[in-house]
Amino acid sequence: MPFEEKRILIVEDNADNAELLQNQLRFLGYPTSAVASTGPDALRMAKDEAPDLILMDVSLPGMNGLDVARKLKADPGTRTIPILAVTAMAMPGDRKRCLDSGCDGYLSKPFWPSALKREIERLLKRSD
Ligand code: MN
Repeated sequence: MPFEEKRILIVEDNADNAELLQNQLRFLGYPTSAVASTGPDALRMAKDEAPDLILMDVSLPGMNGLDVARKLKADPGTRTIPILAVTAMAMPGDRKRCLDSGCDGYLSKPFWPSALKREIERLLKRSD
């Protein structure tokens, strides 16, 4: 499947950050992306829409992104969807905490667009 047909779910409760991410994805050639702004919405949309990749904020209302990742990875229906944690949590140990929760990659905000591109391509390749 060409990259431009990949569907990416953005999980982000901050509307400005979500819009920025959508613009960055569009620039990188991923025009169709949905946005979930709460943990429960992220769970539901991941199940209903079976995206090819999830960009996961960690600090979210309802249920944090790490708990969402744990639930998605425990569910046979969603466990193969790669999850990239995109988070302002940038303390020592935060990367490990994200990976231990089931995330497949970790990007701390703010990030270079090239880093986002590299991680997306790495994770989409893996799901092919
Ligand atoms: Mn947040």
